[in-house]
Amino acid sequence: MAECAEHESVQDAYVCSHLLTGDGLGFVFFPDAGNAWPDAWCLACEEVRWKAGGWNEGNEKLAQITPICSGCYEELRARNARSATGNDLPLEHAA
Ligand SMILES: [Zn+2]
Ligand SMILES: [Zn+2]
Repeated sequence: MAECAEHESVQDAYVCSHLLTGDGLGFVFFPDAGNAWPDAWCLACEEVRWKAGGWNEGNEKLAQITPICSGCYEELRARNARSATGNDLPLEHAA
């Protein structure tokens, strides 16, 4: 469980380090019916990931995926998401 002073941790979640401090950076994830808090990253990370054809050692280093609690995840999504759905995954990247 992620340690969090503000929320009673429901579940661990993982996001790129930019979302932690960013604002309106875009919030990207692959929808997962079995997980309300799937790994998420910002649009800049998504561009790099997409151009590389997926995650690799280099762009994972750039993203610095960080464990947080699911309560913090909700806050970061509210602050960074640009679309009403809360997921800014570009349509052409969804395949
Ligand atoms: Zn990022
Ligand atoms: Zn929290």
